[in-house]
Amino acid sequence: MAEGAGEDEQGVISVDNRDNLTKYMEMANEYGMLNARLITPGDIVFDIRAILKCRWGCENFFRKDIRCHTRDTSFDERVAMINKYSHILLLHSNSARSISIAALKIERAAFLDGCYFAFALRYCNICEVCSVNLGEECKNPDQLRPCDQSFGIDVYKTVRQLGLPCEVLRDRNSEQNRYGFVLID
Ligand code: SF4
Repeated sequence: MAEGAGEDEQGVISVDNRDNLTKYMEMANEYGMLNARLITPGDIVFDIRAILKCRWGCENFFRKDIRCHTRDTSFDERVAMINKYSHILLLHSNSARSISIAALKIERAAFLDGCYFAFALRYCNICEVCSVNLGEECKNPDQLRPCDQSFGIDVYKTVRQLGLPCEVLRDRNSEQNRYGFVLID
């Protein structure tokens, strides 16, 4: 078993070394996140209308973007997947790309620490130029992760109840408050 991870009475891998969680928070800071909060599934507000907006309110889904592939999972299955985790790191930044990069790095670190189900949920923006946006194939499909909205997360309500900002933007030039989630263990 990798250093820093342990096994509970049911034989489930868990983070028994609080230092690892501190390390992920520090990594978030190093990657320029404005905020990083450790939360649990109970802090997440699910609303199936997030998927309604995802399927009909997003141009990416309309053009069958790989980022929006449902992988044949239902809303209930997606909620159940998230509910299996005990520790989730919420990332906040004004830059969607910074969140993409930080979330994947932290996911990787958690995996190497023994949290083999570590998984990032965030709108994919890791490439400086997204080939998908140019109508071409994804350059890094192995690093592609689903966005939180496609998992039925009401990000507005979730972060507001944690005291973090999230407002509807009136134009594309307004400063954005973007969020990502790293499901740790
Ligand atoms: S090309 Fe890069 S940014 Fe675009 S979807 Fe693929 S991995 Fe994400």
